[in-house]
Amino acid sequence: MARSGYTRKHKLQTATKCHCCRRQVPFCWTCRCGFAICQECMQANLWGMSCNGITWQCPDCGQQNGFGNQ
Ligand SMILES: [Zn+2]
Ligand SMILES: [Zn+2]
Repeated sequence: MARSGYTRKHKLQTATKCHCCRRQVPFCWTCRCGFAICQECMQANLWGMSCNGITWQCPDCGQQNGFGNQ
């Protein structure tokens, strides 16, 4: 029993690429359109992406995304 069929594909929870700084980071805020931004860039751009600290607006599609429910 060498192959279980369970390890065929890599899990998708490896590093994500931040669309802002283009680094591979362990965590990104993501939008449904596919846009991803790392914590660091989010902090740096918070003034332009969030007006209330509760939701952030995707610069790509303009959709509002929540901080809490990902
Ligand atoms: Zn980044
Ligand atoms: Zn988006």
